Amino acid sequence: MRAPLTDPFGRDISYLRISVTDRCDFRCVYCMSEDMAFLPKRDLLTLEEIDRVATAFVSRGTRKLRITGGEPLVRRDIMNLFRSLSRHLASGALDELTVTTNGSQLARYAQELADCGVRRVNVSMDTLDPEKFRKITRWGDLSKVLAGIEAARKAGLRVKINAVALKGVNEDEIEGLMQWAHGLGMDLTLIEVMPLGEIEPARLDQFLPLSMVRANLMDRYTLDEDPYRTGGPARYVRVRETGGLVGFITPMTHNFCESCNRVRLTCTGTLYMCLGQEDAADLRSPIRASSDDALLYRAMEEAISRKPKGHDFVIDRRQPRAAVGRHMSVTGG
Ligand code: SAM
Repeated sequence: MRAPLTDPFGRDISYLRISVTDRCDFRCVYCMSEDMAFLPKRDLLTLEEIDRVATAFVSRGTRKLRITGGEPLVRRDIMNLFRSLSRHLASGALDELTVTTNGSQLARYAQELADCGVRRVNVSMDTLDPEKFRKITRWGDLSKVLAGIEAARKAGLRVKINAVALKGVNEDEIEGLMQWAHGLGMDLTLIEVMPLGEIEPARLDQFLPLSMVRANLMDRYTLDEDPYRTGGPARYVRVRETGGLVGFITPMTHNFCESCNRVRLTCTGTLYMCLGQEDAADLRSPIRASSDDALLYRAMEEAISRKPKGHDFVIDRRQPRAAVGRHMSVTGG
């Protein structure tokens, strides 16, 4: 076992999120513009190269891998990656291999994911109204996502629903989403919209502070602070009336960077040390320059030594432009 990666602020890097594609079969209004230009396939890391980088991180102390995108399950042969990464679960080097998906392909892949040792999946779903779902995702079909969730539950996967709170869009539905999710034994995490990438609607119009959502829920429910943690930024409450958990991810109203243990690899081999900063490191060149991992390790160490203390997102009228130019689909959320 090599030395774990620790950043200048003493944070151990134990969590790698990997965006395996920038492509998606949805065009969520807060995430992408409708006419996104995608990367040419030749720029992408192969699945074998992604495995190599992930394995290097695992050997330097990464205990959790999350596969994301774009939509990870639309990448061709993606199950080969899950299958090969599952060896790190079997060896005990890795605690968790998980996936964040829009659910459109889950009906097809849920069982295989479970067979590869995946135990939990996050499904992003902002509404239970089919019309509204179509409007938010532009291209999505809610019935397919619901079938995917069903298949995942049948396969024994623990499903968490992630919903972005959107002003005037789903703010009247949060309680319904919670009742539905908790009724099926699924937790719900709410996310504040973040200023990533230029999109058509103005961010300020979409932004709904979760402090307001929480206050509204508190009018009708008893929310008890809960110590549950997934190693992520969500802070949880248990709803006494439903028994389920609601997580709040509040990058805009509350900063959680001091406990950040993660870095993000894009499908082109670029490592972002913070979701909300532009600085990045190229890991594709070192892996393509040599079949030995020495260059890769050096590049990883150098990158982690530059991990910033945190992000500084602002959405207000004086700052109408995106805080960072890349869309969430590049770094995978
Ligand atoms: N396609 C997969 C999915 O739908 O979960 C994985 C990638 S998607 C970019 C990951 C998460 O980021 C989704 O829950 C999505 O709703 C969220 N997201 C996208 N753009 C966002 C933004 N600007 N602010 C907050 N969350 C965003």
